[in-house]
Amino acid sequence: MGKPKIVVLGAGYAGLKTTRELVKSLAPEEADLVLVNKHNYHYETTWLHEVAAGTLNPNQARFMISDVVNPNRVRLIYDAVVEVNKEDQRVILENGEITYDYLVIALGFESNTFGIKGMEENAYAIVDIDSSREIREHLEYQFAKYKTDENAKESDLSILVGGAGFTGIELLGELVERIPKLCKKYDVDRHKVRIINVEAMPSILPMFDKDLVSYAMQSLEDRGVEFKLGTAINECTEDGFIVGDDNELIEAGTVVWTGGVTGSSVLTESGFELTKGKVTVDGDLRAPGFDNIFILGDCAWVMDEEAGRPFPPTAQAAMQHADTCANNIKAVLRNDPLETFDFDDKGTVASLGVTDGIGNVFSGTALKGKAAAAMKKVVDNRSIYLLGGPKIVLKKGKFRPF
Ligand code: FAD
Ligand code: NAD
Repeated sequence: MGKPKIVVLGAGYAGLKTTRELVKSLAPEEADLVLVNKHNYHYETTWLHEVAAGTLNPNQARFMISDVVNPNRVRLIYDAVVEVNKEDQRVILENGEITYDYLVIALGFESNTFGIKGMEENAYAIVDIDSSREIREHLEYQFAKYKTDENAKESDLSILVGGAGFTGIELLGELVERIPKLCKKYDVDRHKVRIINVEAMPSILPMFDKDLVSYAMQSLEDRGVEFKLGTAINECTEDGFIVGDDNELIEAGTVVWTGGVTGSSVLTESGFELTKGKVTVDGDLRAPGFDNIFILGDCAWVMDEEAGRPFPPTAQAAMQHADTCANNIKAVLRNDPLETFDFDDKGTVASLGVTDGIGNVFSGTALKGKAAAAMKKVVDNRSIYLLGGPKIVLKKGKFRPF
């Protein structure tokens, strides 16, 4: 029998780290490794709100996969996955197909509009480098157009952010830094630019305690964000959001939906049994009923058995999934017992721009302001260290003083 072929789908936090761990722990004679990704680069999803607002150059948020994975050891395929045929152990790609003995599905998330009328057609979403760069370009275009197009309205300068979860709040934190710069560049009065957040729940970021939440809201309001809490978005049109019980239209030239995400649609195409768009995996991270398929990161619900609910889907968790998955693939190949995933929660930090933030770290230490912002940079640099090593940290790390 030939060598087993391990195919990893997706070079995000989960897929790239799994691949690097497998390279380290398996001898070349033990298995052939293949990594499939849509692009020839990895991007830091957790930095995309900065790319979208225009406070970070898109190139700083990505690096070439071949710089961190040796192409002589791992076959790199840059193509989009369409479907997994589990019975034939084949992956259908946009431009071909590939067979596997062991499969790791780590294709991340997609924006979820929950079927809200017009949202997909009329709102931008932060999903990858291309979609984030598009927001950045569109935003700037609104300013350029306002100065030259006699039909331009003041509301064209307004920015609507739908949803006050982590992504929405972190985007607002970057926008309040970016907008004054755009105003200066295009000679626009700052008071003409509204930044409005609409959130259905009565509070932003409900996972933080009240103190931190009111700190975050105050910080953003002081820098010009208007919050409309307890207000559901009912529809998105070309002109903006229609919200609340009386269907008020809030007009804006830039509309971004940050109201939720779901697992890759490849899971649906492949006929997996799904709960809210993701596969509830076994404790060893395998898909129920498939001994040779592991599902990681934002494609998976991994149950916290103690709490009786899934662990939150984060980059932190995705990289830890990768370690367990690589260990378990090695265990399967060597007939050793498999391990059960155990989440080591290092805490959570939400940035509110370059110099501000809130967080809970080290089992309950609350952080706010510059301390939280500094911690966020440590987390960001640690992430690229784990995925790319010291060279990538030196090239792409965040060392901006504040
Ligand atoms: P990803 O890292 O998204 O990687 C998926 C990979 O698969 C990508 O390379 C993609 O190009 C590729 N891919 C997708 N579809 C296909 C296809 N069909 N074919 C081929 N390739 C494909 N979490 C934290 O822990 N801390 C944070 O501070 C944080 N900040 C965030 C900020 C933002 C703006 C967002 C949107 C999310 C943030 N998260 C954060 C959540 C975190 O980014 C996700 O939980 C994490 O990215 C999941 O990792 P993953 O490996 O499953 O997917
Ligand atoms: P989310 O689901 O956490 O938040 C979406 C928000 O949109 C919610 O507050 C929800 O009430 C609101 N919403 C939904 N429908 C609405 C409607 N019709 N009208 C008004 N409001 C509506 O989504 P997210 O912020 O994209 O986060 C996705 C995942 O990524 C989460 O698991 C999060 O933990 C993770 N993440 C983490 C960080 C971090 O750790 N710093 C940053 C970004 C994202």
